[in-house]
Amino acid sequence: MPIVEILSQGHEVVTGQTVDTNAAWLSTQLTEAGCDVRGHRTVGDDLGDLVEVLCAVTRHADVVICTGGLGPTTDDLTSQAVSQAFKRELLFDAQALDAIRSYFETSGRTMPEINRKLAMRPSGSERIDNAWGTAPGYTLNEQQTWMVFLPGVPREMRPMFLGSVLPALAERYDLSPARRITFRTTGMGESSLQERMAGVERGEVVISYRTILPENHIKLLVPPHVDEADLSALVHDVAARLGSYLFAIEGGPSTVAHADPEGGSLEEVVGRELATQNATLSVAESCTGGQIATRLTAIPGASRWFTGGVVAYDNEVKCGQLGVNRDHMNAEGAVSEPVVKGMAEGVRSVMHTTFGLATSGVAGPDGGTLDKPVGTVHLALATPDETFHCVRRFSGDRARIQTLASAASIDLLRRHLQNLPLPGDPHE
Ligand code: ATP
Repeated sequence: MPIVEILSQGHEVVTGQTVDTNAAWLSTQLTEAGCDVRGHRTVGDDLGDLVEVLCAVTRHADVVICTGGLGPTTDDLTSQAVSQAFKRELLFDAQALDAIRSYFETSGRTMPEINRKLAMRPSGSERIDNAWGTAPGYTLNEQQTWMVFLPGVPREMRPMFLGSVLPALAERYDLSPARRITFRTTGMGESSLQERMAGVERGEVVISYRTILPENHIKLLVPPHVDEADLSALVHDVAARLGSYLFAIEGGPSTVAHADPEGGSLEEVVGRELATQNATLSVAESCTGGQIATRLTAIPGASRWFTGGVVAYDNEVKCGQLGVNRDHMNAEGAVSEPVVKGMAEGVRSVMHTTFGLATSGVAGPDGGTLDKPVGTVHLALATPDETFHCVRRFSGDRARIQTLASAASIDLLRRHLQNLPLPGDPHE
């Protein structure tokens, strides 16, 4: 397994103006490909620092991937540093210049002469063409280390890495890719998830957690030699611990409890279920202000199962357009069980759909009361047979409450479609 170091170059990266997504992305790719990524280093636009780091990494790494600093401006110092560190002359590559010139010409521009600098690369290096931008990359062997230099712009760097570097890496080393299995959950906080995972027999499998609101992901990184039967037992154990909060598994065995093996977001899973069951959905949103509809319509093909929505923000819209009972509204207020149920039933009836979802709550920062504090959200799902309701208390700012409330609403439907316990059920 080759030892890899990732090197990110640039003043804006060390000063935090640019978040180093290149290192994160490369690490994920390389780890999955079966490399041992040992470290990330970041250097600013200082020639001496760059030379020092380049010399240091070659002492222990088999592979170094360096991004940034290949551009035409005076602060782009990578090639100069390579030349100094490894005593290699910078040579002019006429083919590279032709490619750069035609890149400009295809977008109707004339190449500024400053770009000639991009066609200079260290002696003994091999060019990596850049069809997505101007600066080509290159590779070179320095003693035992294979060094790769790529432009910093992610949309150029990524296809160059996937198209040229990864295949070359696989030729140089006998890579055994690790397998990554992702469990996608919603509705339970990260600490509660970790509690559920306490004592899981993991062997050599690395377990990590990631929150991407409104989802929490549990990831297994599985070394290639792990026995399939042991892995299957582990996956089923994790799935059982996650219970009804688990909605999809990516990269795992095809049948694990109710989890959708096709993966994807909560909306995609619900969309697939609705399509399979030949059912349709409409939404009535108060505190989520249209976010549920936005999430659902982000899924290609949503028109097969999503009919439409009403942002019923004002109480008059709730009663006038959706037929919510005015006595309920006056007696219980808009953030209440009878009103949210009335909204779900109303939208289902107005839009002639199989299901109707509704939200009504206090997203804050103002408007909370003692019995209905900020974060209180009533959710309802109207079905052909009955209307379900639950009340949730979310914490955080307005945006977080709206995100969690819209996901909880969609999750209410997912649970119903998959015959899982609804929130508040002791078996949840
Ligand atoms: P070019 O000159 O062709 O733009 P370059 O190799 O000179 O490429 P840089 O000038 O270092 O690259 O960076 C160009 C842009 O790429 C930066 O402004 C930034 O937006 C992005 N970038 C650079 N390094 C990183 C990084 N480590 N992670 C994410 N983005 C980066």
